[in-house]
Amino acid sequence: MKKKILIIGAGASGLMAGIQAARAGADVTILEKNDRPGKKLLASGNGKCNLTNLCLSDENIRSSHHLQAMNIIRSFPNEKVLDFFHGLGLSTIEKNGWVYPVTDQSASVLKVLLMEAEFLKIKIKTKESARHISLKGDQFLVRTDTWEYTGGALIIACGSPASAVQGSAGDALVFAEEMGVRTIPFMPALVPLRLKGGGYSRWSGIRFRGSVTLLINNVPLITDSGILQTTDYGISGIPVFQISRYAVRTLYENKSDAVSVRIDFVPDCSERELEEELFSRKERCPYKTMRQLLSGMLPEKLIPFLLPKDCPADKNNIRLVTEILKNFTAQVRDSAGLKYAQVCSGGVPLSELTEKLESRRIRNLYFTGEAVDVDGMCGGYNLQWAWSSGHAAGNAAAEI
Ligand SMILES: Cc1cc2nc3c(=O)[nH]c(=O)nc-3n(C[C@H](O)[C@H](O)[C@H](O)COP(=O)(O)OP(=O)(O)OC[C@H]3O[C@@H](n4cnc5c(N)ncnc54)[C@H](O)[C@@H]3O)c2cc1C
Repeated sequence: MKKKILIIGAGASGLMAGIQAARAGADVTILEKNDRPGKKLLASGNGKCNLTNLCLSDENIRSSHHLQAMNIIRSFPNEKVLDFFHGLGLSTIEKNGWVYPVTDQSASVLKVLLMEAEFLKIKIKTKESARHISLKGDQFLVRTDTWEYTGGALIIACGSPASAVQGSAGDALVFAEEMGVRTIPFMPALVPLRLKGGGYSRWSGIRFRGSVTLLINNVPLITDSGILQTTDYGISGIPVFQISRYAVRTLYENKSDAVSVRIDFVPDCSERELEEELFSRKERCPYKTMRQLLSGMLPEKLIPFLLPKDCPADKNNIRLVTEILKNFTAQVRDSAGLKYAQVCSGGVPLSELTEKLESRRIRNLYFTGEAVDVDGMCGGYNLQWAWSSGHAAGNAAAEI
């Protein structure tokens, strides 16, 4: 007789787990609270779905149990993810290591997964929100508003509360706690940051190439560079996303004055080179004010935010402005919140799970994807984790 497997969540990791389990011979039912599967997958990568990254390395993955997370990823790494999707008929392209479907449409990724699920006779029950889980003998019971499902294995693949995408919720932690599994609270990661102090409406809406460093108690922790965006509450853009999870978790530890960011508005030259450049501009155009010296070097809207109107371009001010442009520092108040986050940090810690994502306390209970305390940087690493963890759990759950 086939082993019956229940999966809560028809997202990236739930679909991968279901396909692996069904390929291994199991009878798979997936419960999905939305009216259709894969809504977050469809929203991913701005609708283009950056499904993995060819430059995957240790630094791209964050977790309280990093070594274990990397071992799981290495068991089904980026090349195997590509083999898997190519095998389903998805053609891909790569841009600086970031991998997308050749159609540039996340719908293509979802479609090939759903075709395979249908071929394997996986039952996907939509509009079925799991409300309560329990264990009776060796059978898991999952109660929804209308039904009670039973299975010999249960995979909790219901993601995190990050983003405004329908279905995003913290149910995974509720289910874990119901089964006595320890959890770490979900917190926004890959998220814009709110800064302390006022006046940010004056710099709102500027995009520029820069770098941002997270400082904890004035000590630099992590830096990232690229296109930064200013907002009326603070800063955004991929480099800010990359450092945000550390800012949020430090703030959560009640260190509200400890977290600040340092922005370098001119990352391509050193402080000395910038100062020399400003002195040489002044020499060429002695009639210019300090603000005018910066025209052509910085976005126009940024200049009045950084400098008072009649600031003369004298030696002292050139030095002062150099310091501001290279080391603009502001304290972080908070993140922009779960709704604006792409992923969450937190979840079930890997110390609670085996390398097959099975609970160490309860046999045949598995957790995958964002339900687990593993998050990645921007660049396809979160979906890579969803595929790797779903692959490991699906295969293991099918074993009799
Ligand atoms: C806007 C945006 C863009 C992103 N872009 C990328 C990208 O380009 N590359 C990348 O690697 N990552 C990206 N991510 C992150 C990535 O999409 C997620 O990390 C990944 O989808 C997580 O997979 P998962 O299986 O854990 O959860 P999900 O894919 O979120 O699936 C969980 C499913 O469970 C369902 N569910 C929840 N609770 C219940 C319940 N009680 N009962 C039944 N069903 C339930 C949900 O409706 C959902 O369908 C992006 C995220 C967002 C929000």
